[in-house]
Amino acid sequence: MKFTDLNLSQDVLQAISAMGFEEPSPIQAKAIPIAMEHKDMIGQAQTGTGKTTAFGVPLIEQIDENREGIQGLVLAPTRELAIQVAEELNRIGQVKGVRTLPIYGGQDITRQIKALKKRPQIIAATPGRLMDHMKRKTIRLNQIQMVVLDEADEMLNMGFIDDIETILAGITSSYQMMLFSATMPTRIQSLAEKYMNDPEIVKV
Ligand code: AMP
Repeated sequence: MKFTDLNLSQDVLQAISAMGFEEPSPIQAKAIPIAMEHKDMIGQAQTGTGKTTAFGVPLIEQIDENREGIQGLVLAPTRELAIQVAEELNRIGQVKGVRTLPIYGGQDITRQIKALKKRPQIIAATPGRLMDHMKRKTIRLNQIQMVVLDEADEMLNMGFIDDIETILAGITSSYQMMLFSATMPTRIQSLAEKYMNDPEIVKV
């Protein structure tokens, strides 16, 4: 299996090649074709398997870089992961012109509001800070096309499950969803049942 077998755009293929990735990892080879068909997907994968690119590639392929508004949302448990995800998505999206902004607690909110004016098409956010922005109406989720829950079990452990539900309930557009979790506790399973449409399960 090669990245060129995955029906990707030249822009994304070029970016992946510049990142030095020669072939898709197992989670990428399984997840990318499913997500590219606009199907909901649950990935049971640990960190280090290449899961960020597994959701980053189909996410960036779906973005219309000429449209305004935030089209992609990645929720992550920690500031470190939000920053790491944003960095990787910015690499994948570089040639296509897709910008990802990390949004996390502990950083000056006015600085984030300023950065939002540069119109990122994707945000990689921790749930608490995103809720702050939603209340202030500095982030609107009416144009979201894809939602990714990264390390969903960690978000549950950190007490973010109610915030995630509030965020998902606040999205007014219809969207595709990808959920990544190393384990599938009951609360995550019921979240998937409530918010996902017949998801395909991928394990590596
Ligand atoms: P992740 O599981 O997303 O945290 O990725 C783990 C590491 O593997 C990151 O440093 C990625 O940049 C790298 N990586 C992801 N996909 C590939 C690939 N197909 N080939 C080589 N390295 C990769």
